[in-house]
Amino acid sequence: MNWLELSQSLNIQLAKQDTPPIHIVSTHALSGGDTHTAYQLHTTTQNYFLKLAPLHQLPMLEAERHNLNALVQSDTLTCPTPYATGTHQEHAWLLMEFIPLKQTGDDTQRGKDLAFMHHQINHEPQPFGWFEDNFIGLSVQHNAWSSDWIQFYGQRRLLPQLELSQLKGAPSTLYQSGLKLIEALPFWFQDYHPDASLLHGDLWAGNSAFNSQGDPIFFDPACYYGDRETDLAMSELFNGFSSEFYQGYHEIFPIDSGYQQRKPLYQLYHLLNHFNLFGGQYLQQVETSIKTLLAHSKT
Ligand code: ADP
Repeated sequence: MNWLELSQSLNIQLAKQDTPPIHIVSTHALSGGDTHTAYQLHTTTQNYFLKLAPLHQLPMLEAERHNLNALVQSDTLTCPTPYATGTHQEHAWLLMEFIPLKQTGDDTQRGKDLAFMHHQINHEPQPFGWFEDNFIGLSVQHNAWSSDWIQFYGQRRLLPQLELSQLKGAPSTLYQSGLKLIEALPFWFQDYHPDASLLHGDLWAGNSAFNSQGDPIFFDPACYYGDRETDLAMSELFNGFSSEFYQGYHEIFPIDSGYQQRKPLYQLYHLLNHFNLFGGQYLQQVETSIKTLLAHSKT
């Protein structure tokens, strides 16, 4: 990487936003990103986190910038401040604040922060969705606005992933049973009408950590307005959040007693996405989940 040339590209973009130029002193490659390469940039003023992706992934980085901005503006979760996105030769880039991270900290506060964010409710006539499509991992996440949560969850979340699963080689029986499940969705919402909460959207433990003071930090969001139970269900899918996290959450925003029934329904979206992205072992989990949910809806 020619850092002098890249910093010129960063500074052209920063100048368009009336932000002072940065002067890179040294760079440090970071590990851990699933979809990008990342660097810590030491500059004469502060440290930055730079994500690099192939050029065609610029829309992903732009969506991430918009999502981080939305969370920063919500004044509830603490996230890295995004500064700019742009391109340089065959790369797309996203420049944001660097926050030194650690894995342990105040998990009760992490739950409270999430609950405070979920209290931010969209009251527009079509409250469910987001102003643009964004990405869940490398998959497109469809966000066209809707007034009806059941319709939104069926048509914008489950259906596109089911369609993609056919291109990825899942049996057509999976698609057929998935369509039946979409028809059966009202079963889970007989006495439950969720508000359109601001969501993180990709809340697994790898997308949250703590700063050096132990305060919670969230990153890599896939924001939209939807049922807050979807964030909680995802947080439970791969574990990683302690009981203190959930206690903190419930203290601020108690959850509906039907959550345990809806949890597998909401986890299914992410399982389908994992099958579509990583294949193999997730197929059986998806099939079992749909079968169990369908059987339950007939009780
Ligand atoms: P990817 O989209 O490639 O998975 P992430 O946004 O999850 O990338 O970031 C990869 C890793 O980099 C994270 O697991 C986290 O440890 C670290 N990280 C992310 N954002 C920052 C930041 N602003 N400052 C410091 N470290 C960060």
